[in-house]
Amino acid sequence: MSQNRLGRAVVIGGSIAGLLAARVLADVFSEVIIVEADVAPEGSTPRNKVPQSHHSHILLERGQKTLEVMFPGIMDEMIQNGSIVTDFTGDLKWFHFGQWKKRFHSGIRMVQQTRPFIEHHIRRRVEGIPNVALQYSTRAAGVVLSDDRNTVQGVQVRNEATNGEETIMADLVVEASGAGAQMLKWLNLDTDASEGVPIQLFYATRFYRTDGVDRGWTNLMISAQLPELPYAGVVIPFENQQIGVTLGGYLKGPPRTDEEFEQIAKSLPQPDIYHFVQNATPISDLKIYKISSQSRKRKDIINKLPKRIIMIGDSYCRFDPLYGQGMTVAAMEAELLHVMLSRNLTDKTMDSAIRDYWSMLPALTDDPWNMALVEAYRHPGITGARPFGIGLQKWFTKKIYQASAHDSSVYLRLAQVMNLTRPSSVFFKPSMLRKIIRKT
Ligand SMILES: Cc1cc2nc3c(=O)[nH]c(=O)nc-3n(C[C@H](O)[C@H](O)[C@H](O)COP(=O)(O)OP(=O)(O)OC[C@H]3O[C@@H](n4cnc5c(N)ncnc54)[C@H](O)[C@@H]3O)c2cc1C
Repeated sequence: MSQNRLGRAVVIGGSIAGLLAARVLADVFSEVIIVEADVAPEGSTPRNKVPQSHHSHILLERGQKTLEVMFPGIMDEMIQNGSIVTDFTGDLKWFHFGQWKKRFHSGIRMVQQTRPFIEHHIRRRVEGIPNVALQYSTRAAGVVLSDDRNTVQGVQVRNEATNGEETIMADLVVEASGAGAQMLKWLNLDTDASEGVPIQLFYATRFYRTDGVDRGWTNLMISAQLPELPYAGVVIPFENQQIGVTLGGYLKGPPRTDEEFEQIAKSLPQPDIYHFVQNATPISDLKIYKISSQSRKRKDIINKLPKRIIMIGDSYCRFDPLYGQGMTVAAMEAELLHVMLSRNLTDKTMDSAIRDYWSMLPALTDDPWNMALVEAYRHPGITGARPFGIGLQKWFTKKIYQASAHDSSVYLRLAQVMNLTRPSSVFFKPSMLRKIIRKT
């Protein structure tokens, strides 16, 4: 990587996306400041300002690989500290589109840990980078623009403890403050800035402990099938003998009590998750999160933004969390930023590097975006303009899911596409097409 040569970058938000952005910016800028509204976290506990940190998170294989490049040794470190290692297709018992998938060992490694645990490990690595500073209890409250309003020149911040205000000047500002990011509002660009799929999904999670009895599976998933089966459920073990049980429901109200949580588990098309919660000991309260829509910034936003601003993570695109993509896509975006900014960068060429980053974001997020979109649009109650060809896509993906239940080669490709290690175009290879269309 190149030597430090540019001035200062400021990152708004010190969560997964912000920390990963800081990691790559540290190779290019002499100084990187992360401003984080939350207090300094203690160890790997859920954070108030990241409410999804109470919910089960999966790190896809592509995310693991990208993290490993950014922080060599981090995956082994997490495993030594308690992450659970499983095989995606071998250790997961998965009911999907009316069938249990035939399990086999694929070598697609899952490394399972809670979200606070992974954030903690990433944060520790970033804290060790000498030219990165993390300022906690510091909320970004606006941006400073050049006189002609064409360039972002800094960030206005407020100290949450003292209420003191300050301006931090910057050569690049990175918006990484999550789904509630205010950047476009500050720039008066928030009208019609996003495309979205109003999935109206609730997430309900509770952690359990068991007596360690062998149930014949390590992970368990029962997928929704819209519109008939609006609920989904997943059971995943994490570090410290915690087993997360998450239920999700599209266009449905969340459970208000533990009993309602169990009733939803009972209403799933297979009884396995219900049996699990009946026989396990709860070790946490029930936590609820509601996601009104999967949303992404429109492509033309790039033409409206001032210079020297980029977005990363949920501030740019937030996915249906049941697909487990957010952290991995944030890592891929950081990787893209790294590639763009490493190309013989000078202060003069930075603007074109930033434009290239923006122009490549839609393609980078298309596969994960479409995966959830196609499933959501099976439900007539999920409103929104259907993209051209959606009927064919729904038919084809259903064929993939059905064929993958009993054909290991189709399941392997599906698992790779879901883990973002292969593009969805692999399904269109003639040999694959034949298997998908032949099998029902
Ligand atoms: C219920 C749920 C389950 C999910 N499950 C998965 C999963 O299984 N796998 C997966 O990969 N992803 C999952 N995701 C997505 C994942 O949580 C995010 O994609 C990931 O955390 C990256 O988010 P982020 O860093 O962009 O934003 P966040 O994690 O939301 O962090 C934003 C940060 O910005 C700070 N902040 C906010 N405003 C300001 C401000 N004005 N100034 C300074 N700081 C500010 C916040 O305090 C916070 O630290 C899930 C999401 C949800 C909601």
